[in-house]
Amino acid sequence: MKQSFFNFTLEELATPSSKNRTSLPTFWAKEAFKKVYVDLNTNIKQWNFPTQWETWLQEEVSFDLFKEVKIQQSNDQTTKFLFSLEDKKLIETVLIPFRNHYSLCLSTQVGCAFGCTFCFTGKKGLLRNLKTPEIVGQVLFIKKWISENKKIMIKPLKNIMYMGQGEPLHNFEAVKKASQIFLEPRGLNFAPRKISLSTVGHIPALKRWSELPPINLSVSLHAATDELRDRIMPINKNYGLKGLVKTLKDISFSGRKKISFEYIMIQGQNDREQDIHHLVELLKDLPCQINLIPTNSFPGSSFQSSPLTHIYEFKQRLVKQGLFTTVRKTKGDDILAACGQLNDSFNLSIADI
Ligand code: SF4
Repeated sequence: MKQSFFNFTLEELATPSSKNRTSLPTFWAKEAFKKVYVDLNTNIKQWNFPTQWETWLQEEVSFDLFKEVKIQQSNDQTTKFLFSLEDKKLIETVLIPFRNHYSLCLSTQVGCAFGCTFCFTGKKGLLRNLKTPEIVGQVLFIKKWISENKKIMIKPLKNIMYMGQGEPLHNFEAVKKASQIFLEPRGLNFAPRKISLSTVGHIPALKRWSELPPINLSVSLHAATDELRDRIMPINKNYGLKGLVKTLKDISFSGRKKISFEYIMIQGQNDREQDIHHLVELLKDLPCQINLIPTNSFPGSSFQSSPLTHIYEFKQRLVKQGLFTTVRKTKGDDILAACGQLNDSFNLSIADI
């Protein structure tokens, strides 16, 4: 059976994995990585490889990406891609414009097992993990799409965020390998500081953080007491805040890395005076930054965002207490592409493509 090209690290492509599977010589493996990930060309007939290696690639390797794709663009140019996988399951990926670049929000699972109450993805439950090629394929497809739409998509893709559908640490091995492929200097060549992984606090996997390449860590916190976090994030009942903070303190980061904490602002629930004190108390010994995010609504959601003026006041209060805090602007909410809004079963039909 053919193996997906997008499942290979460069080393693996140049290493026989069994007595039945030969490999490309290192020189040609590097060339193949350049063709696919730099030139964005998966047509091996155009590669001018020696016949022997062209035949080998034809017989051993598949370059298939997604079955079908649907693309929606929001008023602010945020672009949402709906991908149909081999088994017809669907995932969404979001391309977000910033001043000088795009960031890409990747999915790592079909659905999600963790059921956070403010998240549309959580309503689906977990259907399955994505395989490495399905994670890498999101980046490659969208890089190609940007280059084919240069007239309107004029910025470079600079950042990757594992913040789409699914809990990335719940699919540890596939995410680890995809990250290695993203960082390969002869391929996509992302810098580690340009890749961020967001987790709800999956402690067993966080304990394995050092096995991952040195990417950025972001924690979806959203509540600073177990009482509230238990209510809005069921994972907290298994892995409470005390254990989470201890695990984070034990992680050794190279350089001056800070942990980012994402905190959606829910009116009347986690935006009160006492929440400021709880946050300060909880995070006081961690090198970190807090990102406040307006709550995004979705069909059937019962949460209301704190007003923007209140979010900025909350920020000032945290800053005065010594916590570095930013406010994140919502993007793509008119097409359900913003934080917490991804759910491919809603409103989009792949048959329309
Ligand atoms: S916030 Fe993340 S972990 Fe929670 S349900 Fe949504 S996708 Fe899953």
